[in-house]
Amino acid sequence: MMNSMILPGATIGMIGGGQLGRMFVIAAKYLGYKVIVLEPGNDSPAGQVADEQLVAAYDDPQALAEFSRRCDVITTEFENIPASVLDDLSQSCLVHPSAEALGKTQDRIVEKDFISSCGLLPVPYGVIRTRSDVETAIEAIEFPAILKTARFGYDGKGQITVNNPDEVVAAFQSHQSAECVLEQRIDLHCEISVVIARNAHGETETFPISENIHRDGILFQSIVPARVDEDIARSAIVAAEHIARKLEYVGVLAVEFFVTRQGQLLVNEIAPRTHNSGHYTIDACITSQFEQQVRTVCNLPFGATTLLSPVVMTNLLGDLWGESRPDWTKVFDSSASKLHLYGKDAAKPGRKMGHYCTLADSAKAAEAEAISIFKGLNAS
Ligand code: ADP
Ligand code: MG
Repeated sequence: MMNSMILPGATIGMIGGGQLGRMFVIAAKYLGYKVIVLEPGNDSPAGQVADEQLVAAYDDPQALAEFSRRCDVITTEFENIPASVLDDLSQSCLVHPSAEALGKTQDRIVEKDFISSCGLLPVPYGVIRTRSDVETAIEAIEFPAILKTARFGYDGKGQITVNNPDEVVAAFQSHQSAECVLEQRIDLHCEISVVIARNAHGETETFPISENIHRDGILFQSIVPARVDEDIARSAIVAAEHIARKLEYVGVLAVEFFVTRQGQLLVNEIAPRTHNSGHYTIDACITSQFEQQVRTVCNLPFGATTLLSPVVMTNLLGDLWGESRPDWTKVFDSSASKLHLYGKDAAKPGRKMGHYCTLADSAKAAEAEAISIFKGLNAS
């Protein structure tokens, strides 16, 4: 069963209704699959385009029973579902990725241990479970540092910059004493990421490395090809392959890296899913990260990941909306730019509403064009 292909016409289950799920559904529909989304929120970005949405909590036993009965394979777009849910589903249905793989990436403490066990370097850190851990944690780092909750953080949420021991204590208390990691703040040369697919035969295929520009802890732009040395690029790919292999991962995963000013490569975090920094693959690669997820979970051969053009992806956050919606003609007037909106109604600050990709002869030209569009978007 494990090695047979799940062919078009079959039904894929997607746990999670966000934009990553939406773009997965669109890719699956192109290939002729049916998709059922499991998501508690009504009218979700993924549910809008799927064949059906089961509106239920991720751990609703009745919904899960129906879900596994009706799906040929189940995958996810979201790491914060209880790993036990994947475990239970896997008793009666094919599920990729596994509960074990998810479990290693949901908690920053477990994740950093795992990164070290791969022989890779996590960002220097200390663990704070109770107030009495603060002193030991401080010894592991140099200030300034960032206190991050071990679980449920995303887009920079749950992170507080701290400059001295007193601020660590205050930040820990303001996190309601939830388990935390105290991370040294790295003097960054740049950030890069690798999106990688691994199949049930243990083969891997990576996408071109993306260089990621963040603003306020949220991805702003991804630039491809990334402007990094070849040996850094090679090390990042080897690291991603190693991580995927050690997780016995099946599906698509992303590894975020920091490149320090001294030229060291540190693993920031692992996302057991497609990734915002891989959105460029829809418009600029032979195969998108979402089609690759369909292919790997259905046990089809990989699609080629070749980059067809330099590209810059720019995120559209809710902040841009203000009084009126952004002026989309600025994107449409750029004939080699592609607009993607996620079907979300409420535009809140920091909420990912969409993105656009700008293709050009060079990454530099794409970046200039993307920035010029961006400046026009909320100029009205
Ligand atoms: P999230 O789960 O929110 O993506 P990250 O740990 O990746 O959390 O942090 C988001 C961004 O904040 C990073 O991509 C980076 O730009 C910045 N950041 C986080 N931790 C550090 C650090 N230790 N040193 C420097 N920058 C950091
Ligand atoms: Mg991150």
